[in-house]
Amino acid sequence: MSAVDHDTLVGWLTRLKLTAIRDQLDSLLDEAARSDLTMRETVALLCEREIARKDERRIIMALKIAHFPHARDLEGFDFEAQPSIDPQQIRELATARWVAHGDALLLLGPPGVGKSHLAIALGREVIRQNYTVLFTTAQSLVASLVKAHSEGRLEERLAFLAKPKLLIVDELGYLPFDPNAAHLFFQLVSRRYERGAMLITSNRSVGEWGSVFGDPVVATAILDRLLHHSHVITIRGDSYRLREKRRSGLLQKATPTLFA
Ligand code: ADP
Ligand code: MG
Repeated sequence: MSAVDHDTLVGWLTRLKLTAIRDQLDSLLDEAARSDLTMRETVALLCEREIARKDERRIIMALKIAHFPHARDLEGFDFEAQPSIDPQQIRELATARWVAHGDALLLLGPPGVGKSHLAIALGREVIRQNYTVLFTTAQSLVASLVKAHSEGRLEERLAFLAKPKLLIVDELGYLPFDPNAAHLFFQLVSRRYERGAMLITSNRSVGEWGSVFGDPVVATAILDRLLHHSHVITIRGDSYRLREKRRSGLLQKATPTLFA
């Protein structure tokens, strides 16, 4: 093979979309020469850089698509402040095996104990494991289903919501559902059942879901599917926000909690 000039090589790498190798070409070739790499090692080094760049891009895109309300990660979660959570269980969930199986994960507990924090942090780990994620609140999810239903686009909406491998529904139970909304939510859960995983956070215990859905029959049907392959974590204790305030002397004593 005849010698190829730099610009031609750059053109080829662009055409092949090997942009990390293209952008770092000279330094990668220098590194290979300096370290006396074999041909095979050099190819491996180039592949490694390209894969790292593609993974990085994929994660940035997937995080945008997931629509997390803000960034939270597991490193930022203070497990010592929350002894009702088993860190080992969270680490296991962070491997996303439950997502691969299409299981449900329920994070239950009073306000401020870290349910949304863990939901977002786990969602980000799931994206790192190469799965698609969509985050929504129960309220906006139901509003979108009701709207789609009234516009004759329910099927389209359900298909959209069935697509991500993990659907996170935050804050179920803050507002009760009307019967129509509960039924639409049931259709969504049925659609995703055993296909896609769901992570639901709620300030209500499972026993109270009858009143959340305004209909014990629909609530039972929903729970039947969700609990079939599920992981339920009940977080107890005081609000982390209030705890921080209490520490700084703004509040005097513990406030009563629903799950205590
Ligand atoms: P919930 O969804 O249960 O109401 P959040 O997850 O929104 O609670 O937590 C409230 C705030 O406190 C958030 O900013 C969250 O990051 C923080 N927080 C809660 N628990 C912890 C914790 N154990 N370690 C670090 N930050 C926490
Ligand atoms: Mg929350």
